[in-house]
Amino acid sequence: MPELPEVEVIRRGLAPRLLGRRFLSVKMGKKRLRQASEPQHLTRWLPGRRLERLQRRGKYLVFRLEGGVTLLIHLGMTGRLLLGAPVHHEPHVHLIFTLEGGLTLAFEDVRRFGQVLVFTPGEPLTPLKQVGREPFSRRVTPEWLVEVSRGRRRPLKNFLLDGRILAGLGNIYACEVMFAAGVHPATPAGALELDEWDRVLQETRRILKRAIRQGGTTVNNYLNSRGETGLFQVELMVYGREGEPCRRCGSAIQRLVQAGRSTFFCPQCQP
Ligand SMILES: [Zn+2]
Repeated sequence: MPELPEVEVIRRGLAPRLLGRRFLSVKMGKKRLRQASEPQHLTRWLPGRRLERLQRRGKYLVFRLEGGVTLLIHLGMTGRLLLGAPVHHEPHVHLIFTLEGGLTLAFEDVRRFGQVLVFTPGEPLTPLKQVGREPFSRRVTPEWLVEVSRGRRRPLKNFLLDGRILAGLGNIYACEVMFAAGVHPATPAGALELDEWDRVLQETRRILKRAIRQGGTTVNNYLNSRGETGLFQVELMVYGREGEPCRRCGSAIQRLVQAGRSTFFCPQCQP
């Protein structure tokens, strides 16, 4: 599932190729995404408009078009954006946008949890209201984390995964952040001290930055017409390594299930 770094890398990859171009047409496949604007709505509002800005909020790509029209795209669990030469409708391609210069942007999504939503000028971008603060925002500080976690008994892991508080952190990076910060994933969020939040925040930023940087080198994989690649080749310290030796202390990495998701951690490094 794409997390913040993957979406940011896609944004950086798409921006130079798409900015300033006009959308010409939108074609829909047979199967609909679970959350998508009506075809008539998309074809009414997108064609003829130039892309002015391409932003990211949490895991949303925010396409700002001429005249105050906004297109939101969320990749869901298996969504992929394929940029390139004209593509034919394949079973999992749900939408094909054609832009000036013969460029096409296709949205492919096997499980169809992705979202493609168009908003008219002045219409509130409702899905973004659920998105918490950006991890790189100056408004995110250790003091703020102490404040918003106060009295919360739910585990740190679940707190970090809550995109309404901190945007864009998924299962993989949350596990890596807790390992790097040396905090046990079951620690109640409200029990963390200021210095622990400071470490968690610093590690969050460091790990996300590194993933974005490394993703930059594989960005073409997202943009060719085949769209190969999943996660970046970041060296994972704990995620997916149950039973393997900790890269720092040699103890066996353990796994526990929190809110239905696997958490990987080192019992020695994360007491
Ligand atoms: Zn360890």
